[in-house]
Amino acid sequence: MNDDETLPAPRPASGDGRSGITARLAAVIDALPQAVIVLDTIGDCRSNEPAQRIFGPLPVAMPASPVDGLCTHLHMRCADRDVPIAPADHPCSRALRGEECSRDVIVREHRSGEELMLRCHAQPLHEDQRIVGVVVCNVDISDLRRSTAKLRRINQDLEQFAAIASHDLQEPLRIVRSYLGLLDFRQSIRGDEVARRHLAYAEESAARLQRMLANLLDITRISRQGLKRVRFNAGAAVAEALESLGQTVIESGATVSVPELPEVYADRSFLVILLRNLIANALKYRHPDRPCRIAIDAWKGANDETVFSVSDSGIGIAPEHREIIFAAFQRLPNAAPGNGLGLDICRRIVERHGGSIWVDSTLGVGSTFKFIIPGAQEDGPLEHPPHSNGRPPP
Ligand code: ADP
Repeated sequence: MNDDETLPAPRPASGDGRSGITARLAAVIDALPQAVIVLDTIGDCRSNEPAQRIFGPLPVAMPASPVDGLCTHLHMRCADRDVPIAPADHPCSRALRGEECSRDVIVREHRSGEELMLRCHAQPLHEDQRIVGVVVCNVDISDLRRSTAKLRRINQDLEQFAAIASHDLQEPLRIVRSYLGLLDFRQSIRGDEVARRHLAYAEESAARLQRMLANLLDITRISRQGLKRVRFNAGAAVAEALESLGQTVIESGATVSVPELPEVYADRSFLVILLRNLIANALKYRHPDRPCRIAIDAWKGANDETVFSVSDSGIGIAPEHREIIFAAFQRLPNAAPGNGLGLDICRRIVERHGGSIWVDSTLGVGSTFKFIIPGAQEDGPLEHPPHSNGRPPP
């Protein structure tokens, strides 16, 4: 049995009575939940029920310039600026020029007048390598848009709360620490060693809390503050990060090698925080039985991106831990004092730039943290960067 025996022969689509769009294709279009319009260059137009609900009845035969006619009929406006889409930029016109075009648009629903946000996907219809029409498929994303806006507001409120809390809690904590210092001084005069030991515990906890608040404040700044990307030499950021670690580098006896580094296009203050956290960890997780060696390098990759690496000769990280260490408050059993926020901050900074971060490591031998900062031409919508989660890029 061949196909001709199992399937009825194509009939003209109901309603248009013209050739071009077959009955079978029409039935498929009618069955789709998305608002679909198919128009061919001789003017045959087929739209399904969801399309007619949104755009109103569409003529089954478009006049002389069918695609222009369809553009006028659809009344689409730009989603970001709420102005009519210019005819040449209209998804249907672009599809007719052979482009596959996907964009969000605003329309007013035909009967209710309600404003809808549609994700409009238009593409050319080819026959014998000629464009013979366009197919436009619209998905109503109004609910998604409302939920996204609501989530964004909730997120902003939470970020604001975290920013205010982590900032304002620092002041009383500073006062607590200074009084602990005064009490310690008095107890040292009295010679009460037990009281001094208790005060030392209290001071240690207060210092830890202060570091945690400073880290939380960094996190809120990374997500709230606009990126100030400029071009600068990566070596200058490394030097600044090393300087901010001050005595720690000297006390650890570490040797740090930094060759000549290329330019990077990044937010300088964020890049310094990122490098400082990675170098601080290389010092903190050094191997007890061998000298601490740190090698920092950077080089240019494709499309002006800059790849950084920070290698150490430290204790290393087991394969099963190489991803979770980039999540907030994740610390390994052998962790030195800390709060588990350092690598989370690094990941957020890299992702804010649209890049990714990961680690290569051999347990007991050392680790190499690598991250990519995309170049200037990849400056896209950085508000929703991909999640690297410590995975190397594909
Ligand atoms: P913290 O150091 O405050 O615990 P981080 O987020 O900076 O938090 O690091 C998370 C965990 O990753 C650490 O607890 C540690 O176990 C591991 N780690 C980070 N950097 C290194 C490194 N260079 N060598 C070995 N382990 C590391």
